[in-house]
Amino acid sequence: MQCIDIHTHQIPAGTGKLFILNRFPDNSLPELPPGGFFSIGLHPWYVGGSREIKRQMSYLEGLVSSDGVIAIGECGLDKVCKTDWSYQLEAFLWQCDMAEELNKPVIIHCVRAWNDIYHLHRKRNPKVPWILHGYNANDMVTSQLLQQNIFFSFGKALLEEDSPARKSFQMIPPEKIFLETDEESLSIQNVYEKASELMDIKVTTLAEQIEWNFRQVFVRQ
Ligand SMILES: [Zn+2]
Repeated sequence: MQCIDIHTHQIPAGTGKLFILNRFPDNSLPELPPGGFFSIGLHPWYVGGSREIKRQMSYLEGLVSSDGVIAIGECGLDKVCKTDWSYQLEAFLWQCDMAEELNKPVIIHCVRAWNDIYHLHRKRNPKVPWILHGYNANDMVTSQLLQQNIFFSFGKALLEEDSPARKSFQMIPPEKIFLETDEESLSIQNVYEKASELMDIKVTTLAEQIEWNFRQVFVRQ
């Protein structure tokens, strides 16, 4: 059984794992074991001011076509961080355009900007998939986002009793779901076990479903 981790910040221990290692543009791309891929993007926390942003963008441009980079991100919008909103928006939209050009999906970091993401997706109608990572929004937000063809990736929040993620998780069709560990030191197997319990299906069935989703979203031609 393959428990694909679509968003992690560390190379998992052991062999034979399928994962997407997230890198910020100022990091180099390390050697990866077979089954390892990269996502690379400019995170809203680290978007610089007017001059810095141009440097970051050109740095990113030089890396996005490297071997093993299968997604743009994490990038996105964050209403709680200090980065000026206009720069966040500029960096995010620029990365969405680049993703369209390169035909790569976008892994999105979103904090209290669900409405913005919803409207941007509606307006732009992107041909590449958008995946909301570390998803933990409530059921009202989820039903709005489900009107768009958006994907959802769940991690730590699924393991927490009464998290908004748990309730939302059960509203989302299986073909729109991914699982991840992000920066947490939890094992992806634990996330799969909890998710399959919440869905009341076998963990192997869930793993097959996510493998299918992975092929649809990340291994498109
Ligand atoms: Zn992350």
